[in-house]
Amino acid sequence: MVQSGATHWFELHNPATQELLGYVPQATAEELREAAASCASAFKTWRKTSVLSRQRMMLDLQALVRERQDDVARNIVHEHGKTFNDARGDVFRGLQVVDHACGVPSHLMGQRLPVANDMDTYTIHEPLGVVGGITPSNFPFMIGAWIMPLAIATGNTCLLKPSERVPGATMMLAQMVKDVGIPAGVVNIVHGGVDTVNFVCDAPEIRAISFVGSDTAGKHIFARGTANGKRVQANLGAKNHGVVLPDANPVHTLNQLAGAAFGAAGQRCMALSTAVFVGEARQWIPALVEQARALQAGFGMDPKSDLGPVITPASKRRVLELVQSGVDEGATLLLDGTQCTPAGYEHGNFIGPTILGNVKPHMRCYREEIFGPVLVILEAETLDEAIAMVNANPYGNGTALFTNSGSAARHFEENIDVGQVGINVPIPVPIPPFAFTGSRGSIRGDLNFYGKSGVQFFTSIKTVTALWRKQDATVASQAAMSMPTIH
Ligand code: NAD
Repeated sequence: MVQSGATHWFELHNPATQELLGYVPQATAEELREAAASCASAFKTWRKTSVLSRQRMMLDLQALVRERQDDVARNIVHEHGKTFNDARGDVFRGLQVVDHACGVPSHLMGQRLPVANDMDTYTIHEPLGVVGGITPSNFPFMIGAWIMPLAIATGNTCLLKPSERVPGATMMLAQMVKDVGIPAGVVNIVHGGVDTVNFVCDAPEIRAISFVGSDTAGKHIFARGTANGKRVQANLGAKNHGVVLPDANPVHTLNQLAGAAFGAAGQRCMALSTAVFVGEARQWIPALVEQARALQAGFGMDPKSDLGPVITPASKRRVLELVQSGVDEGATLLLDGTQCTPAGYEHGNFIGPTILGNVKPHMRCYREEIFGPVLVILEAETLDEAIAMVNANPYGNGTALFTNSGSAARHFEENIDVGQVGINVPIPVPIPPFAFTGSRGSIRGDLNFYGKSGVQFFTSIKTVTALWRKQDATVASQAAMSMPTIH
């Protein structure tokens, strides 16, 4: 760890209390250059380590994350605000990617085919070099773990920039990397805001960038990174719809909707922030409102809390403003959590579960990602009308259909233009043997995070065609001037 000589520092606050937890540096240009150079230098030897020793280090890292998961979760509660159990889920979903990275020898196996007499063609998956990771505030551990373990297991070195609002979990992960003996320089953490992001986009040593966060940042990073010739994968904002058919199981559906809309105070990229009730399913809206009314906002370490605060006072102001815009545009405030102040936490950025009904697609509260504990409800007469609505929304991150009809589920699955589809599953984040995808406005780039796609993102494929003949074999007496054909 290096003490920064920064002149600009970001304040770090507990969003439940506003307690000042510390300061996060805007790393200086010199510090950023040193960190990238350290990764570049470490790459020279790290790429030569055997895949089995990298696997062994991943297995050790996996064990250490399991051992320290509750410490990390506590840190997440204090910096981010989500509840302790939810924070444990954040760590666990990151750990699953470490689990997956432990299978790196299998992931890197290439293909081989004898293509002619004494001639084979085969592929080798090689690391790219230094890869950069830029992560958001809403999953302080998981998203760094989507990136770094697979990046280094495949032989790259990694420069990771956590969100300046929640750096603690990433620092704890970096400590674990050190404690399991992964050599210095293989992972470097750099702090800061836009200046650090721009450094990652521009630094010539960095060959690829994995980004997760908002549209504004993601579009900028994708444009700047690719203009510099880098491979960039960017997962952006979301507006996820839960479509409810009248034949669904009402208890299951309402439980799942309430959890997925208000869990983590709606600050998940896969939050079901929009419900579309089809036909007679609309009769369940009052029951959903009552279910949401019973949820308690509070400090994340209090076991009675169902949801914590939103991340910053500015986020709270933005969410309240979007709720008001909905009311101004004619939506009905079915549940008003805007005045929520849990006893003892009057200074926190709390918003209670809030529900806007009669929302129409032209309203701002529908078009924009709210990223708070606010569910907007629309209605449709048919499944096809609901599908058209989802497909017309600019985002395509996740969606869920609630139904007991296999044919309706199949029709939905085939016609919906969204990356992650849940059938009676509200937050269908795929486990790491699959990849986390996304569609339309929720994604930039072609190769997805983790899974086979993640391995492809962090490697380039070299294809070798080799001819090995016996020394005494007959050779052609003159040069072949036509395009070589293999047959
Ligand atoms: P954010 O975009 O504010 O921050 C993400 C990262 O980008 C941070 O490291 C930050 O320092 C940097 N950054 C912020 N503004 C920037 C700018 N103008 N230029 C360059 N860099 C900038 O995102 P956040 O608020 O921390 O996270 C929430 C957002 O992330 C939501 O929109 C959410 O939907 C999205 N998200 C998407 C996914 C997904 O997989 N699609 C997953 C998690 C979060």
